[in-house]
Amino acid sequence: METLMPDTMRTGGCLCGAVRYEITAEPDYAGLCYCADCQKVSGSAFVGVVGVPASGFKVTGEASRYVCKALGGGDAVRNSCPTCHSLLFGGIVGQDTSHTVYVGGLDDGSWFAPSFAIFASRRPAWAPEPPPGVAVFAEMPPGR
Ligand SMILES: [Zn+2]
Ligand SMILES: [Zn+2]
Repeated sequence: METLMPDTMRTGGCLCGAVRYEITAEPDYAGLCYCADCQKVSGSAFVGVVGVPASGFKVTGEASRYVCKALGGGDAVRNSCPTCHSLLFGGIVGQDTSHTVYVGGLDDGSWFAPSFAIFASRRPAWAPEPPPGVAVFAEMPPGR
């Protein structure tokens, strides 16, 4: 993975602007998730996410955390804005080594290029199919 130059720093945040973040590292992965939890939490059919190493992710403002059981059995930690309730990223800042960033919060998400789609069997009929070239998994791919 290439290292990002400072002028390609990627920024995002919530709807009201109280919570902002910067991504200064190349994401480890980029994908789409159609799971039931992501549908609930986003109010939509799927989410786009990138995995960012904690060393390349900086948050300003105070996000509120919601923890529930992940489908894999562990804890799923989601951070949102306490004021406007935008869903922002996953994981505990200062504790986890990587974060899942929900790409809808990016100021410019045009660089987002998903390589996989998971829980695709949950995709509602009205939602678009993953774009060509994306590896589609009906559930969580084996080995994850
Ligand atoms: Zn907000
Ligand atoms: Zn999901």
